[in-house]
Amino acid sequence: MRRLIRGTRLVVASHNVGKVREIRDLVAPHGLDVVSAGDLGLPEPEETGATFAANATLKALAAARGSLLPALADDSGLEVDELGGAPGIHSARWAGPSKDFRMAMQRVADELRARSGWVSPGPRANFVCVLCLAWPDGETRLFEGRVYGRLAWPPRGTKGFGYDPIFVADGETLTFGEMEPDRKHALSHRARAFELFARSCLGEGG
Ligand code: IMP
Repeated sequence: MRRLIRGTRLVVASHNVGKVREIRDLVAPHGLDVVSAGDLGLPEPEETGATFAANATLKALAAARGSLLPALADDSGLEVDELGGAPGIHSARWAGPSKDFRMAMQRVADELRARSGWVSPGPRANFVCVLCLAWPDGETRLFEGRVYGRLAWPPRGTKGFGYDPIFVADGETLTFGEMEPDRKHALSHRARAFELFARSCLGEGG
């Protein structure tokens, strides 16, 4: 596997501002020149895959081929045990075209309530992140990270994005929405997937 050395230009294949910000923060210490797919005016491909891995791969390949640069895509979402893993790959879609995550969180709460799923200390859930690094010639690598915890209601905190205000990681009391970004980065599904990516693809290697 080719590695990304300091100074390499890397496209973050996402139009989600929250995700691009987190990936930028994670990449920063490694000295890569990060640019987002949105900055390059690349179109956002339709997420037609049936899995996180398939969607991450199609986004990374589209950006790598469109920019002729290596590209890193993230496909991620929230899985709620009691909802059979929903919203899962549909996490962004539950927020509708206006990306209204208050509505998406309300839908999670309503669907759980309909199944009497709001039991103390909170329904089990996890975030999943699959990162795909793709090269313009079609080579790809996948890395997966998860963080397990419980859901809280009502939503708390304004620091994160998406479903952060209703997720409390195991061993924590604050929601991801209440946590300082550094703390979330130390725990999150994205940070875990990123660590695997960094170990195999960043720097000179060993
Ligand atoms: P996609 O990967 O672009 O399909 O979108 C995944 C969706 O999952 C995001 O829009 C968020 O709603 C949700 N999600 C993924 N990661 C996180 C996170 O770290 N915090 C909160 N929500 C997240």
